[in-house]
Amino acid sequence: MADQFDVVVIGSGPGGYVAAIRAAQLGMKVACVEAQKLGGVCNNWGCIPTKAMLEASHYARATSHMSEFGVDVGEVKLDIGRAAERAADVADKGAKGTAYLFKKNKIELVQGWGRLTGKDTVEVDPSKNAGHGDEKPGKGEKRTLKAKHIIVATGSRPRSLPMLKIDGDRVWSSDHAVFAPEAPKTIGIIGAGAIGMEFADVFDSFGSKVYLIEALDRILPLEDEDASKTLSKLYKKRGIEVMEGARLEKADVKKGGVTLTVKKKDGKAESIEVERVLVAVGRAPIIDDIGLDKAGVKTENGFIVTDAKMRTSVPSIYAIGDVTKPPLLAHKASHEGVAAAEAIAGDEHAGIDYDNIPAVTYCHPEVASCGLTEAQAKEQGLDYQAGSFPFSANGRARTAGETDGFVKIIRDKKYGEILGAHIVGPHASELIGEFIVGRHLESTVEEMDRAMHPHPTLSEAIAEAALASLGHAIHI
Ligand code: NAD
Repeated sequence: MADQFDVVVIGSGPGGYVAAIRAAQLGMKVACVEAQKLGGVCNNWGCIPTKAMLEASHYARATSHMSEFGVDVGEVKLDIGRAAERAADVADKGAKGTAYLFKKNKIELVQGWGRLTGKDTVEVDPSKNAGHGDEKPGKGEKRTLKAKHIIVATGSRPRSLPMLKIDGDRVWSSDHAVFAPEAPKTIGIIGAGAIGMEFADVFDSFGSKVYLIEALDRILPLEDEDASKTLSKLYKKRGIEVMEGARLEKADVKKGGVTLTVKKKDGKAESIEVERVLVAVGRAPIIDDIGLDKAGVKTENGFIVTDAKMRTSVPSIYAIGDVTKPPLLAHKASHEGVAAAEAIAGDEHAGIDYDNIPAVTYCHPEVASCGLTEAQAKEQGLDYQAGSFPFSANGRARTAGETDGFVKIIRDKKYGEILGAHIVGPHASELIGEFIVGRHLESTVEEMDRAMHPHPTLSEAIAEAALASLGHAIHI
């Protein structure tokens, strides 16, 4: 006999587990199918352990200028393997936390690969997994779950390149790089999006010679140009080989390393010998072998098509997170999970504010943004004024010795709307929250300044950037 549920969620990442909890809170009987570790890529191989590694990289570099603060630390020895063990431990604790929340909300966890076999059935196969990390699939009997509603939250996996297949040995994906037992002497990182930038920071801090190869003409190509320029300059100063507008022409994987042939911006080819390569050219939604065709769920360009309530083309089936549409971000997935659960319960959900999704890259200094870049405002023909304030003029940043970066605001001239906000600097990931709330509440730029900020704090740079966009910053 099939087990009967109100909702079966396939996938327990930040989309799936949040959807499961919200559905349970709304009184539904819920099961969550997971092929690997509870918490998905975000908790186990992605967001959480990489942030633990970036925290380690911050300390690794801080030791080089501790004497300025009157603290002599003596000889510094770096061990990325120990940092990776700690990162794995942090991830394990997160998975245990989610298990506790499932128990508290009476959500049944069903281990195995979930496949739709109809509009209201999910078959769970313990002998297959999603291929994250080096985990082997489990064993056991297949089980069939019946559900009034199904939420597909299967997430994504790293993309490979045809000429550079990820093998977990010489050629890594982020799943391998995050738990590296030792820092390679040399590493080639292909792609300078969030993953490439964050791992360039980690490996450089732990002593690797890093070659960061980006096909487009600047690193962090989705960010405001000022952010890309600042990070490019700072990374080069650290000794990272930043290659922008560089095409990977050939990759020769040998026993002891990899030879990368790169055509540089100036048209010249360069051959680079590296011990390991990290492929960081994006992630692909997991929509294969999950039975979408059997259930009749429509896809487009590799993503599942959904409406504003996260319903797919089949009324009983919903989809959330990386399988729906970009950006592939944990916080977007969680919001979609809540929207799906509330839609199933028949609640009125206010709708997801897709125009106000924060983007953060947790390299040092951090990069965070929301809304339009200056180039986008220009392209759209908007009447705007940009204003920037550097952290070098902020007292709190100077006390911390972290003065690189800025806050930049794109202000609509007529209505004072915050069209876009861009932060490069210490704790940018936390500071961007102020703009997210400001934009959500439709605050004007003037109001961002008039709300009194405590002194001395980094947040004063937000008020000053607001004033800069009005033409009268106080401290510059
Ligand atoms: P991405 O799409 O953000 O960046 C990939 C980069 O690789 C792009 O800049 C692209 O131009 C470049 N590229 C593609 N093919 C190339 C080639 N052949 N040679 C050189 N460069 C090439 O992807 P990502 O950084 O791999 O991240 C994957 C997903 O995970 C993204 O959606 C990202 O937003 C998300 N993510 C987010 C965070 C975060 O929020 N901090 C961290 C990690 C990952």
